Amino acid sequence: MTIQVAIVGTGPAGFYAAEALLKSDAECRIDMIDRLPTPFGLVRYGVAPDHQTTKRVTRVYTKILRREEVEFFGNVEVGRDVTLDELRSAYDAVVFATGAAHDCSLGIPGEDKGGVIGSASFVGWYNAHPDMRDLDPDLGCTAAAVIGNGNVAIDIARVLVKTREDMAESDLPPYAADAIARSPLRDVYMFGRRGPIEAKFTNVELREMGHLEDALAVVDPAQLPDDVGDLPEGRDRRLKEKNLATLKGFAAQAGREVARRAHFAFFATPVEILGGDRVEGLRLERTRVVAGRAVGTGEFFEIPCGLVIPAVGYRSIAVEGLPFDEKSATIPNHDGRVEPGIYVVGWIKRGPSGVIGTNRPDGVKVAGHIVSDCRDSGKPAGHRLRSLLAGRGVGPVSFADWEAIDAAEIAAAVPPAPRRKFETVAAMLSVLEAPAAPALAVSGSDPE
Ligand code: NAP
Repeated sequence: MTIQVAIVGTGPAGFYAAEALLKSDAECRIDMIDRLPTPFGLVRYGVAPDHQTTKRVTRVYTKILRREEVEFFGNVEVGRDVTLDELRSAYDAVVFATGAAHDCSLGIPGEDKGGVIGSASFVGWYNAHPDMRDLDPDLGCTAAAVIGNGNVAIDIARVLVKTREDMAESDLPPYAADAIARSPLRDVYMFGRRGPIEAKFTNVELREMGHLEDALAVVDPAQLPDDVGDLPEGRDRRLKEKNLATLKGFAAQAGREVARRAHFAFFATPVEILGGDRVEGLRLERTRVVAGRAVGTGEFFEIPCGLVIPAVGYRSIAVEGLPFDEKSATIPNHDGRVEPGIYVVGWIKRGPSGVIGTNRPDGVKVAGHIVSDCRDSGKPAGHRLRSLLAGRGVGPVSFADWEAIDAAEIAAAVPPAPRRKFETVAAMLSVLEAPAAPALAVSGSDPE
C-alpha cells in the first residue's frame, strides 16, 4: 500500500515534510515540484551568499532527492502548468511548501519611488534568482537605509559593506559583486522602530558585523541600556543579553579608517520616503518603547540616502482554489491540515518566522496527518503529472538534470567561489540541451 504525495515547493519546509513521510510507518511515494529548475528554495536564493556553511544543509536534501521513492519535477509551476484540481485527482495528498516570496510594504508615502527595493527583491538579486536578475538596483549613492532589525536586514547590510575579498568564498554573482564594489556607498543604516533589546537579530549574525575587513559596525552608546531589564530567565533573555553585549562591544571599539560603515540606529520609524521620482532621503520619527510597542514621540528627523530597502518581513501569496487569510498571508489550517488531502508546511502555513530547522516540526505534523488521513487509492500520481505536462509541451527538469546544472555551476566557479550560479532559467536549461563534449576533444588528444 503506497500513499502518493505531491509536495509543491522544494525549500526546507518541503524537504522536512518529505523526510518525515519517508521516516513514517506508511509507504509513501513523493513527487517534489518546483517552479524553478533548481531545488532548495530559500537555501539557494534566500540564505546569504557568504553563508555557505548554512547552505550545506542541501546535502541532507540531496540525499532525500536520491531516494527511489522520491522524484523531482523542476520547472513546473502549479497554476500555470498543472492545476490544483489535477494534482488532487492524481495524488492522495498534496502539500504546499511554497513559502513567502513577496515583500511586506511599509505603507508610507514615497514607497513607489525609484530606489525603494523590497528585501525579497534585493536578496533575490544578490543571490542570482532568475526573477531578479534584471533588477539592476542603482547603487550610485553614498548612503542606504535598510528598514528593520531582523536577520534579513543584517544580511543585506553585511553584503553591502563587505569587500570583494570578503566575499571571495561566496557565490555572490559577478554582476552583483561588481555593482557593490563599484558603488560609492559609505554608510548603510539599519533602522529599528524599537530598541536594541527588541531587535530580532540572532547573535551569530550580529557578531559577524564586528569582523568585517574594511567596514565598521557603528552604534550610538546612548541608545544602549545598561541591561536587558526584567525579562524572565530563559533562552530569549540570554539571546538579548548576548546581543546587548555585542552591541556594547561595537559602541566601545576604537574608530578606524574604513571604506564603509554599518550603522545600527534604534528607536526610529520611517514615516516618509523623500525625493522626486527617485529616493533622496528618508524621514523618520523617533520612538520609545511602551509595553513592548514602538510609540512615536512627535520628534522627526531626516537622513539623505539614495536607496531604501524595507526588510520588514515577507508575505505568501494565495494558491488558487484554496482559502487564504489576507491578514496573516497564510492558508488557514489546523496544524498543517487544510482539509484531508491538502496540507501546508513552512511559511505559507505559519508566516515568515524561524530559522531553517524551525520547519522540521511542521513536516513531522503533516506527515502524521497524511498517514492518518490517506490510503492508497490507486491514484496515477507521477504518470498522470508527466502525461499532463507532456500534453502541454512542458519538459520537467529531473533530479539527474539538476545534477547536471549543479555540476556545470560548480565547474564554472572561479576558486575559491564554490559555484557560479546560472542567472536565467534559459541558461540552466541550455546545459541540458548541450551535446556531451566528445571524449577525445576533452582529453586533448588527436582525434585521428
Ligand atoms: P523579522 O525577523 O520578522 O524582522 C522584521 C523586522 O522588520 C523587525 O525588526 C520588525 O520590527 C521590522 N518591521 C516590521 N514592520 C515594520 C514597519 N512597518 N516599520 C518598521 N519596521 C518594521 O523578519 P526577517 O528579517 O524578514 O526574517 C524572516 C525570518 O527569516 C526570521 O525568522 C529570520 O530569523 C529568518 N532568517 C534567518 C537568517 C539566519 O538565520 N541567518 C537569515 C535571514 C532570515 P518589530 O520587531 O518592531 O516588529
